[in-house]
Amino acid sequence: MLVQKKVIVLGGGESGVGAAILARNKGFDVFLSDRSQLHQKYSDILTRENIPFEQGIHSEARIFDADLVIKSPGIPDTVPLIRALKEKEIPVISEIEFASGYTDAKIIAITGSNGKTTTTLLAYHLLKNAGLHVGLAGNIGDSFAWQVAEKDYEYYVLEISSFQLDNIIHFRPHMAVLLNITPDHLDRYDYNFQNYIDSKFNIIRNQTAEDHFIYFQDSEVIRKEIEKRNIPSSMLAVSLESETEQGAYFFNRKLISNVSGKSFEEDFAELPVKGPHNAVNALAAITIAQLCGLNPVAIREGLLSFRNAPHRLEEVETIHEVTYINDSKATNVDSVFYALGSFEQPVILIAGGVDKGNDYSQIEELVRNKVKGLIILSKDFEKLRDYFTGIVAHIYTTQDVQNAVNKAQEWSVPGDVVLLSPACASFDLFQNYEDRGNKFKAAVRNLVHS
Ligand code: ADP
Repeated sequence: MLVQKKVIVLGGGESGVGAAILARNKGFDVFLSDRSQLHQKYSDILTRENIPFEQGIHSEARIFDADLVIKSPGIPDTVPLIRALKEKEIPVISEIEFASGYTDAKIIAITGSNGKTTTTLLAYHLLKNAGLHVGLAGNIGDSFAWQVAEKDYEYYVLEISSFQLDNIIHFRPHMAVLLNITPDHLDRYDYNFQNYIDSKFNIIRNQTAEDHFIYFQDSEVIRKEIEKRNIPSSMLAVSLESETEQGAYFFNRKLISNVSGKSFEEDFAELPVKGPHNAVNALAAITIAQLCGLNPVAIREGLLSFRNAPHRLEEVETIHEVTYINDSKATNVDSVFYALGSFEQPVILIAGGVDKGNDYSQIEELVRNKVKGLIILSKDFEKLRDYFTGIVAHIYTTQDVQNAVNKAQEWSVPGDVVLLSPACASFDLFQNYEDRGNKFKAAVRNLVHS
């Protein structure tokens, strides 16, 4: 009799439940285990699909009996359970690794410390708008594995985090994009930046000469790492600083790309997304579109009709000629660097939250030149306050978002920008960055009515 292989799925969120469904469809004996309580939605789905699961506990004996473990990216490799699995030589892989083995679709995988969501959404929008049969997955939207189980897309655009790349073996995207690498999540990488760089470069680990690697050439970290490696992929560079032969660049306010003998040009000012970082994201997305054979008319149409997800330099309101911007998704220093670089006006910056080992020197100069007041919205405020004392004239600390917004209004004069761009995670005072952004927007709208 054929013995069914045992798959254990750890973590019952979107990716875990999708992986469980795909594994069940592929004939594995599946069990899902989550140490916390599942959302009702997911426990209902598992029950309906007849997939056994447990919540609030990990039954170790059952887990150690697995032939394969599919782990949610939220579970660090360093927890005792994962260490024990590795000691027992039970393979632990990510949902992305598992699902990619069951599809022949062309995979476009996008990673970086910042800009993943924007670039993924934009590339997806360009391809879909041009009529390609394309799915959107990864850190975004519906589970990749679930879509592989139930859909038959020709292309997938995947937003890929370093956590997903930590647990791949064969994952081989046909097009890989690396937008930037700046210190982030170092708590998950032994506070060793090189470990994080290696994780990001996993995106091209299995690429061959038939595959494409699109990278941001202006990043010194990326350039140096490329020099160290012998990369077989076809390389396409994206740059704001210099012309690139194969790839795309910014020149004279235009986005210009040259890919496989075809060229494309568009005025950046025409696009709905603003700021230099979004020029990088757009150049990467255009390169993908060209590699997929889209014609210039379709690319242009897609670029102009794109709407970004909320909480990324999102304009909330202009009140008494002061513009309020919600950039709650800026959870590291590099994204604040680009946010500050997107405004000419004086800025009142609202920042703070859970510090992931931040080094504020990258934004020191910009803060000195542009920020007239810093409002620290955080439980722990000392690090930010101590760093910026003497650099910013006014510093105010609070744990209440309405207080923060009120103070910003008090300090502002017509022409200023009030920018929520925290450089930190949100978990001290909020459920997540969306909750923080939504509460900020509500607080701003309270001003309108006051
Ligand atoms: P991610 O999914 O990687 O977190 P997002 O597109 O959600 O990326 O953007 C996160 C934050 O980073 C936002 O504050 C945004 O303004 C900023 N950002 C977007 N693209 C880039 C980029 N290419 N370089 C630096 N910062 C960026």
